[in-house]
Amino acid sequence: MMFHCCVSLGYIERKLDAKQKTFLEIDGRDATEPELREVIARCRANGYTVLPPCDHIDTQGHCAGHSEYAASGVEISGSKKEQSHGCC
Ligand SMILES: [Zn+2]
Repeated sequence: MMFHCCVSLGYIERKLDAKQKTFLEIDGRDATEPELREVIARCRANGYTVLPPCDHIDTQGHCAGHSEYAASGVEISGSKKEQSHGCC
């Protein structure tokens, strides 16, 4: 089972509050602070605690896992969803 890493919404907010670069992109360019604050608000309205990394997520926005990648060699053996929070 492979999981996508997630970035916590609080982490993004702390970077924005500190005027630090987030390295997040929208449409192939650096996302602006207002854009990211809007994304954070929409995510929180959906009950997410992280920026959803893909279309297969749980109720908090974390990746719910992808077994279809198991044969491709990108599986992270023994990985747990709890390990994919924060910035990684
Ligand atoms: Zn995923």
